[in-house]
Amino acid sequence: MKQNLLFSAILMGSFLSTNAQTAKPEDTEYYTPIPKVITPGSVYGVPPSDAIVLFGGKNLDQWVPTKDSTSNKKWTVANNCMTVNKANGDLQTKRSFLDFQLHIEYRIPSNITGTGQARGNSGIFLAALPWGAGGYELQVLDNYKNTTYVNGQVGSLYKQTPPLANACRKPGQWQTYDVIWTAPRFNEDGTVKSPARATVLHNGVLVQNNTVLTGDTPYIGQPSYKQHGPEPIKLQAHGDKSEPISYRNIWLREL
Ligand code: MG
Repeated sequence: MKQNLLFSAILMGSFLSTNAQTAKPEDTEYYTPIPKVITPGSVYGVPPSDAIVLFGGKNLDQWVPTKDSTSNKKWTVANNCMTVNKANGDLQTKRSFLDFQLHIEYRIPSNITGTGQARGNSGIFLAALPWGAGGYELQVLDNYKNTTYVNGQVGSLYKQTPPLANACRKPGQWQTYDVIWTAPRFNEDGTVKSPARATVLHNGVLVQNNTVLTGDTPYIGQPSYKQHGPEPIKLQAHGDKSEPISYRNIWLREL
């Protein structure tokens, strides 16, 4: 018995040493493709070197009104930021995108009034669609000591998934959103091949962790998917009566 154990131990030892001799560290190391070298920007302001700057503070060259793309009625640009013009409606990018990393900063005015959903309501549609709910909305709202339904507060994927935390700053301060968006994919017959997914940091805090969207984000009714491809990004001019909010430093990296 003792001899058998000893024999087994010798066998095991020789197996391990053989395996250790044949397996090399470099077997599990690879060198290509090499990740692209870029210069990182600061949390606020300076975009990384490969970003598409959608708003740098000077003009709205990258944007058109959603309802009337020939109109020159746009939002106000002053002091390096763009301010919602509610009468002129939503604004969307001229270009269309599929998967991306988006950085955007917004400021609720310090004199904001209203309650619930009627307090600094805007929104970022990660893909603007010309039908139904108008796309997939990441909510913008003042939820600093302002409550509403949790799946409609700031950081929510509207009427679907509440944020993991309320990382709201006080009105009057600039706030950041960093979004990683994976657009939905569709089969040829229009059925969903893979749903949309969003990871969102609000003021540097994770609020959506690779969240799967069950469809678009309607105000009334259930989410649903309808086939689309690369789409613009849209900023919402919400019809509430509160003071309009501002955006700045909007940039995007296509993935
Ligand atoms: Mg909204």
